[in-house]
Amino acid sequence: MAVTHVKRAFKYRFYPSDAQAVELSRTFGCVRKVYNLALAARTQAWARQERVNYNATSTMLTAWKKTEELAFLGDVSSVPLQQTLRHLQTAFTHFFAKRAKYPRFKSRKRSRKSAEYTTSGFRFRDGRLTLAKMADPLDIVWSRPLPEGATPSTVTVSQDAAGRWFVSMLCDDPSIQPFPAADSAVGIDVGLDHLLTLSTGEKIANPRHERRDRTRLAKAQRELSRKAKGDGANRAKARRKVARIHARIADRRRDMLHKLTTRLVRENQTLVIEDLTVRNMVRNHTLARAISDASWSEFRFLLEYKAAWYGREVIAVDRFFPSSRLCSVCGTLQAKMPLSVRTWTCDCGTTHDRDVNAAKNLLAAGLAVTVCGAGVRPQRSSPGGQSATKQKTPRREP
Ligand SMILES: [Zn+2]
Repeated sequence: MAVTHVKRAFKYRFYPSDAQAVELSRTFGCVRKVYNLALAARTQAWARQERVNYNATSTMLTAWKKTEELAFLGDVSSVPLQQTLRHLQTAFTHFFAKRAKYPRFKSRKRSRKSAEYTTSGFRFRDGRLTLAKMADPLDIVWSRPLPEGATPSTVTVSQDAAGRWFVSMLCDDPSIQPFPAADSAVGIDVGLDHLLTLSTGEKIANPRHERRDRTRLAKAQRELSRKAKGDGANRAKARRKVARIHARIADRRRDMLHKLTTRLVRENQTLVIEDLTVRNMVRNHTLARAISDASWSEFRFLLEYKAAWYGREVIAVDRFFPSSRLCSVCGTLQAKMPLSVRTWTCDCGTTHDRDVNAAKNLLAAGLAVTVCGAGVRPQRSSPGGQSATKQKTPRREP
């Protein structure tokens, strides 16, 4: 796979001036408003069995700005508003392809605050980034340099629940070259006790301190729910505390996942994972499960885009594949395998670690997919990490 120009996102913290913070908060609000208005219009059309596309919503936006009650939409840069309509279009494309649920409305409290600017919405000169409607460049903390000659094509500004501001710049990175070809392949299984288990038998633990952070998070969440009916100030304080702990867990995870995915991609030509897309759409009931699923989707995203940079292949095997119940040595399928069973012995005499056996089976299934070829389309990674194809199942659970 030839990789020439790769788009790569560089994310930094920044500290807005008061005026910039006001402008950005206003922009986030308008982005949310436009997204929700367009979603409502598309939903009404959907009920009438009509489809409204991006162009139609773009025309609506122009009309909304001319009304008295929505004139404020014209006060912020139009670029992020157009971008949010494009994102909604993408969400509908995924929905129509049955890859995602029906798009949901953005809530003021729960949705990510962000605004995306394309080249007409910002100026990048001499390493200084100035957004539309702003006089001064952003005060960015350059925690690592942009690569030589890199110019951003898209800039996303966001604010997390802990109140921190971030800017992410999507750049063409001419410095990335594929790794030399390797002949090794690895199966990667996701778990709860361990973050990941490899078919080589290696187990990758959850980040250090995470158990403690989770305990603190659970406690903070209990406090927050106790204060749900209390006074506003205490409740806001409890909410910020929950957000801070969440942010810390996410930061540590991200750091660890970056190092891990780079290593796995460097060491292996083919990486086989389980396709958990469908399971991720199911609501999570436990905190551990929620965090595990969140880091799994981040892991997959990082793995896929790094594989694309470095000329590696990621294969996602259908989740119905009975990887836990199948003996990786003799191929016998066990009738039952409750989650509590961590090691088991097959009739052939092999004793298996549950997760290592599952990872070995994933690897075998993934390699079978690449070999049999005809009629089977494994999911290939793309720089955006979006897998467009739903592959057929190598073996389906009876
Ligand atoms: Zn066996």
